[in-house]
Amino acid sequence: MKTEICIIGAGPAGLMAAISAAAAGARATVVEANTSPGRKLLLTGAGRCNLTHQDAPQEFVRAFGVGGKFLSYCVFRFSPQDVQDFFARLGLRTKTEKDGCVFSAFGRASDVKEALVGCAKTLGATLSYGRQVGGVGKEAGSFVVRTPQEQISADRLIVATGGMSWPRTGCTGDGYRFARHLGHTVTPTKASLVPLVTGEVWPGRLAGTALENVRVSARLGNRKVITVGAMIFTDDGIGGPAVLDMSRHLTEHLPGKTPIGLTLDLAPHIEQAQLEWQMTEHIAANPRKKVANVLAEFVPKRLSVLLCRQASCDDRLPAGQLKKDVRRKLLRTIKALPLSILRTKPIAEATVTRGGVNINEVEPKTMESKICPGLFFAGEVLNVDGPCGGYNLQACWSTGALAGSSAARSR
Ligand SMILES: Cc1cc2nc3c(=O)[nH]c(=O)nc-3n(C[C@H](O)[C@H](O)[C@H](O)COP(=O)(O)OP(=O)(O)OC[C@H]3O[C@@H](n4cnc5c(N)ncnc54)[C@H](O)[C@@H]3O)c2cc1C
Repeated sequence: MKTEICIIGAGPAGLMAAISAAAAGARATVVEANTSPGRKLLLTGAGRCNLTHQDAPQEFVRAFGVGGKFLSYCVFRFSPQDVQDFFARLGLRTKTEKDGCVFSAFGRASDVKEALVGCAKTLGATLSYGRQVGGVGKEAGSFVVRTPQEQISADRLIVATGGMSWPRTGCTGDGYRFARHLGHTVTPTKASLVPLVTGEVWPGRLAGTALENVRVSARLGNRKVITVGAMIFTDDGIGGPAVLDMSRHLTEHLPGKTPIGLTLDLAPHIEQAQLEWQMTEHIAANPRKKVANVLAEFVPKRLSVLLCRQASCDDRLPAGQLKKDVRRKLLRTIKALPLSILRTKPIAEATVTRGGVNINEVEPKTMESKICPGLFFAGEVLNVDGPCGGYNLQACWSTGALAGSSAARSR
């Protein structure tokens, strides 16, 4: 089979690349290993698909850290607002939550997938499923894409095979192999946006307890890193958005020779002095109330007993009998609960992959390889990863749209 542009992977980046290539008049063929497209896309935002983040492009790019400079051109060209307009034109309504996260309005990731697939087909792209690409090569100026069913010859090739997280969705790192074969270097992969494993065992006793808003702080050398948001205790540590965002900063340092110290501020909305005043008032009004029940005014009940233990305080003690120094200790456990982080959970459980195709070898204004002309990359296969909140999908839309249109133009 012969095609103008072959795209490997029918995830968000590959589908967007196909749409943009087909819209520019090119013959685009998407080859997908799974029997259906967008398996991972269906899981995003817990099935609701947090498809982008309502940020100005410059803010958006800053959130990516070092990868932001590489993304800058494509995000300005196809911004979070452009993405929402694009989906609106396809009939997909979106809603923006107060933290800036943009979801499909009816809370169905499947609506996003169907909008993309419908658009790609309408524009004439060919979507071919159940075809695991085993290898790629370049022969006499054309790309050769080998699947068990057929060999595809293509003038241009877009690799949009994703990273290595959640391998059961089809992402097993094949794209890195293809990139290496075509002359690229691949930055070592690590888990990012991933739950953290603690040295302490007590979080396991609270597994499933969630907190709506915490501030997580860590000191890395002379740099202090802070993330804010919801979190949850897990069997062997901590997870949830604030922790996943923190994992982005820690992943390069884990596992280390020594654990990394973290502190959790369980009541970030209130200063310590004000919290102390509120607690003192509450105790004065309820001197017979058990200490754990007083704490439960400020943190979830299950956690309050544990905080008492951390402060070496009897949780059943009538609050009126609390000594000032113990009350201070309790306050400290609420405002700066210490934890030691041993490692991240494995990459298979990560939301995204850190590492991938070396972005210094890819032209940011086209997504074309600087090493192998006619080869393009899009999405998570590239070494860029952002925080929670729709950033990673936006990177897929922006890189996918640019790779598709650039490949279509480079005839
Ligand atoms: C549970 C979960 C929730 C998430 N939620 C969000 C969210 O709400 N918002 C957000 O911004 N990000 C979220 N992410 C991250 C986001 O899903 C990914 O960054 C995004 O899907 C990457 O898109 P992609 O197109 O690059 O790769 P993928 O979505 O991984 O798609 C790659 C495709 O390539 C195919 N493929 C791979 N190798 C081959 C091969 N050899 N031959 C043929 N096909 C191949 C795969 O089968 C797959 O379909 C979430 C991730 C997870 C795991």
